[in-house]
Amino acid sequence: MVVELIAVGTEILLGNIVNTNAAFLAEKCALLGLSLYYQTAVGDNEERLSETLKTALNRSDIVILSGGLGPTKDDLTKEVAAKVMEMPLVEDKHTRKRIEEYFKNSQSKVVTDNNWKQAFVPKGSKVLDNKNGTAPGIIMEKNGKVAILLPGPPNELIPMFNHDVFPYLNSLQPEIIYSAMVKICGIGESMVETQIADLIAGQSNPTIAPYAKVGEVHLRVTAKAKDEKEAKKMVKPVVKELKERFGKSVYTVDESVTLEDTVIGMLKEKGMSLTTVESCTGGLLAARLTKVPGVSEVFKQGFVTYSNRAKRKLLEVKKSTLKDYGAVSEKTAKEMAKNGAFITGADACLSVTGVAGPDQVEGKPVGLVYIGCCYKNIVTVKEYHFNGERDKIREWAAVSALILLRECLLEQ
Ligand code: ATP
Repeated sequence: MVVELIAVGTEILLGNIVNTNAAFLAEKCALLGLSLYYQTAVGDNEERLSETLKTALNRSDIVILSGGLGPTKDDLTKEVAAKVMEMPLVEDKHTRKRIEEYFKNSQSKVVTDNNWKQAFVPKGSKVLDNKNGTAPGIIMEKNGKVAILLPGPPNELIPMFNHDVFPYLNSLQPEIIYSAMVKICGIGESMVETQIADLIAGQSNPTIAPYAKVGEVHLRVTAKAKDEKEAKKMVKPVVKELKERFGKSVYTVDESVTLEDTVIGMLKEKGMSLTTVESCTGGLLAARLTKVPGVSEVFKQGFVTYSNRAKRKLLEVKKSTLKDYGAVSEKTAKEMAKNGAFITGADACLSVTGVAGPDQVEGKPVGLVYIGCCYKNIVTVKEYHFNGERDKIREWAAVSALILLRECLLEQ
């Protein structure tokens, strides 16, 4: 089956917004085994959107449109799709009620007249509830063609796609797709690929697809079968094999679980608390940790001690350490982690100090980073040499700190 994507919105067309929905949807379509030949971005213009949709429906079986479902006048997607597919708009009672409820529970309790426009849907279409906004998603089927209308904001589109559209698209195919994600940390991409070269060479169904991330490699195991039960059965032994090959480096097989979720979960399980003391990452590590709901149970405090003075005053790093070894040194990372744990009374403390660039510091090369982990009074410090630009080095440092903490928690 051939699928096509249309992103609607002048902001996307002109580059004010990056079209991340296209990347998300394209990856999911590939995973579903759909053939994707075209992606288009079109502004909020009735004529051009209409033209674009007609062309897409002519050459593809399924067209997924994102954006332009809002309450304002320039939100035209639904109106245009209704005209092109000749499915007139009618009020959907269920959606009207849902919008009422949404506003009752939201901060702005006033429903403006144009909000009710969102309760109108093409006659005979399937309506998808939006759990994070007012605009419903819509599936329109006519003469063997399908148009799927999704809200633009990614926090609305992604859950709606995963919950409703993915199973719908799966059901259109003769064979369904099921996949699991084996997430590995602390091993480089080429090492991972080498260790599974035999599995990849012999694969057909299920398949294994590696995705390299910063500090992590994710392996998607996908099976095609007549039903989900069968596909799950096919995926299971491959996941087992991967877990055996990569042992403790596998931190989850659940696609929705992140590395920070995992380390926080481990700390919670052990009843341990955590402090972070950061220099070159400037709070990036604390920001990643505090993205996880419920982190307050374990996260005590995050210091950003950028200057030597701050390292001395807030973390009591010895003046002689800074003078003799420098701020970017194993000894400084060690004192930062140890003192950070002691001062805040935390069971664990991560420290990061390094040269993010572009200039050298203390005559030390760009990319040199020391990460310390104090856990149960034992301090482990590792030296890293990261490549890339400033932002990449900082990202690598933050993820490496999470990986080091995980290692310490696993060992002790
Ligand atoms: P709303 O109900 O919020 O108005 P909508 O369906 O009308 O949603 P748009 O108005 O087109 O969507 O876009 C709203 C916001 O969603 C944009 O400002 C942008 O932040 C985000 N957005 C829209 N399209 C995309 C896209 N293709 N990729 C990433 N973000 C997008």
